[in-house]
Amino acid sequence: MSDTRDSSPWPRVCEKFKREFGHHAFTTWLGQLGFNGIDGGTAELTAPTKFVRDWIQRHYAPRLQDFFASEDARVKALTIRLAPKSMTGTPETAAPAETVPAEPAEAGISMRTDEGSALDPKYTFDSFVVGKSNELAYAAAKRISESDDVAFNPLFLHGGVGLGKTHLMHALAWEVKRRDPQKRVVYISAEKFMFEFIAALRFKDTHAFKQKFRAVDLLMVDDVQFIANKESTQEEFFHTFNALVDNRCQVVITADRSPTDLEGIQDRIISRLGWGLVADIHPTDYELRLGILQSKAEQTRSVPVPAEVLEFLARRITSNVRELEGALNRVLAYGTLVGRPITMDMTRDVLQDLIRANDRKLTIDEIQRTVADYFNLRLAEMLSERRARNIARPRQIAMYLSKQLTSRSLPEIGRRFGGRDHTTVMHAVRKIEDLRRDDSQLDDDLARLGRLLEG
Ligand code: ADP
Ligand code: MG
Repeated sequence: MSDTRDSSPWPRVCEKFKREFGHHAFTTWLGQLGFNGIDGGTAELTAPTKFVRDWIQRHYAPRLQDFFASEDARVKALTIRLAPKSMTGTPETAAPAETVPAEPAEAGISMRTDEGSALDPKYTFDSFVVGKSNELAYAAAKRISESDDVAFNPLFLHGGVGLGKTHLMHALAWEVKRRDPQKRVVYISAEKFMFEFIAALRFKDTHAFKQKFRAVDLLMVDDVQFIANKESTQEEFFHTFNALVDNRCQVVITADRSPTDLEGIQDRIISRLGWGLVADIHPTDYELRLGILQSKAEQTRSVPVPAEVLEFLARRITSNVRELEGALNRVLAYGTLVGRPITMDMTRDVLQDLIRANDRKLTIDEIQRTVADYFNLRLAEMLSERRARNIARPRQIAMYLSKQLTSRSLPEIGRRFGGRDHTTVMHAVRKIEDLRRDDSQLDDDLARLGRLLEG
């Protein structure tokens, strides 16, 4: 053993471990190990139980070795032995598996991939709602998670903000880890990749940095547009990327735009990024938004959310899914706080600002024309004084939609419907709200009109 007490790298390795994996992981795992010294380039550790040893071996060994190597350049390998019983005083049988967390509950561990960032347990394939706009991206991620061979490399997912790119990456990581906990999966944002790279340069630790990212089965780098114009980071990223692809390790990348639209990224990188499968996630359509809302509302069973509120949100919050979720959460939170059932009025109230920001400036005129067309009426007919059911009902529907889809007041709407009184509009709105609850035909018509108007 060439190690002496004073120069022991162990305390600093422990520090690094804590910094990267947190205190909890340290006390649960590394804190239980003993350090014996470095022998012929191998750092020797002892574990109290087989379970602890295997766990560390499986989840932390490569990283631990990096930590050792950065403290002592001689270290080229790592071994973890079972401590002789007399040494720890805890015979293996005295430390049954229950004393250490059972596998799936390993918060500090299963929440993060091997080296990268924390994974959100909510982001799974199960909780991802598939629609036309994201089905290719979903299928590709799913395929990678299920197959052992490399189908397409890299997978490049791109799409606007809040459309589910990060969600899909986390889902992929969870699924790969679930199927094979041995697989080394790294999820990291390009930004973090860059900061770590810069830190590695500063601390002259680039070897460890390279090791860390090149010894994986699946590397996922999120939001690569962040490393546009960052020359040296790009360079390192590209080397890492090439090394992995050449080793037939799967790489998944996301960006907010397509490879060819990435500015400030070298052409050779762009062209290689496009070698695998490029899947874009399009903006959501009404069906998908409604599907997502229904699925979220089901998960939060605390307060029931009426269908018309979900439809209203799906129709009005069109920007992205994150905002859509935010809107639903706000309504749910409000309903829970004030302890009142969620209604359309409450929703409009609570979300005033959001609705205004998402306003597509749909006009009453557009609504009237669309409704008249839909029911095969002439516009003048629908706005006339006639009270026949086949004319009055479409008129009420148009009033209802005008109230729902524009920010016009009741008197304004009344004026635009041939100078009617605001109480007439109010009556129409209530009538339609009432009717649609039991009349599935009407409900259907409204949903279709909503889609038509959404364009
Ligand atoms: P991006 O990374 O593309 O900006 P995120 O993956 O962070 O978007 O998604 C934003 C939010 O919207 C997340 O909470 C995510 O769970 C949710 N989300 C996006 N798309 C879907 C979907 N198809 N089904 C369910 N939730 C979704
Ligand atoms: Mg993201």
